Amino acid sequence: MACESLSYVEERIIKACERAGRKREEVLLLGASKGVPLERIKEFYKCGLSTFGENRVQEFLKKWEGLKDLSIDWHFIGRLQSNKVKYIIDKVSLIHSLDRESLLEELEKRAKAMNKVQEVLVEVNVGGEETKGGIEPENLRAFLEKIMQAENIKVLGLMCIPPYREGPEEVRPYFSLLRRLKKDLEKEFGVKLPHLSMGMSHDFEVAIEEGATIIRVGTLLFGGRS
Ligand SMILES: *Cc1c(COP(=O)(O)O)cnc(C)c1O
Repeated sequence: MACESLSYVEERIIKACERAGRKREEVLLLGASKGVPLERIKEFYKCGLSTFGENRVQEFLKKWEGLKDLSIDWHFIGRLQSNKVKYIIDKVSLIHSLDRESLLEELEKRAKAMNKVQEVLVEVNVGGEETKGGIEPENLRAFLEKIMQAENIKVLGLMCIPPYREGPEEVRPYFSLLRRLKKDLEKEFGVKLPHLSMGMSHDFEVAIEEGATIIRVGTLLFGGRS
């Protein structure tokens, strides 16, 4: 079952890449595994999926412990409380959800203490929604400046969770906004930001067409959550 589900998503990724004139290797499929039991993650791992992203620290720690014999590349994709940074910083390769200065400071402190350079993405509030985290587009430049001063933090790009829309096509403007923001920052700072983390079950194909390099797929891979 897991392998069929993975091939189904894989097929759709390949088609979207073809439409967009992109190579399949340019897009990383991350399994958004919140609420998915350990055993099920293991099945998907055996089928060839090796990058997973979790949202909640406690749940992540349990899964990390239970699956540490596998070479899973763990990302953190959810809202991160500063006081929990210390539990995850030695276990995740990429944090997608850097969304405020206090979190940046804590990450820098903890990364420095363990002599690690922590790679991060900046979450952008592309829809200007009050209920969502993320840096407002107009504050991105100033925030990036701060990140550049943090010696043990390396920013690799931007991430967004756009407002919900019925049709995936209606989400496209948010994805293209994120792409443009990234391009502007690259120009402004003279750096390369390799990643755009955008697109979920509902809209990952549109995200790929708009330049996503990491898509975060949950429901479509693992089935509905209870
Ligand atoms: C749950 C989640 C996803 C996956 O969403 P699906 O619609 O189930 O594919 C992606 N990104 C984040 C941040 C999530 O919390």
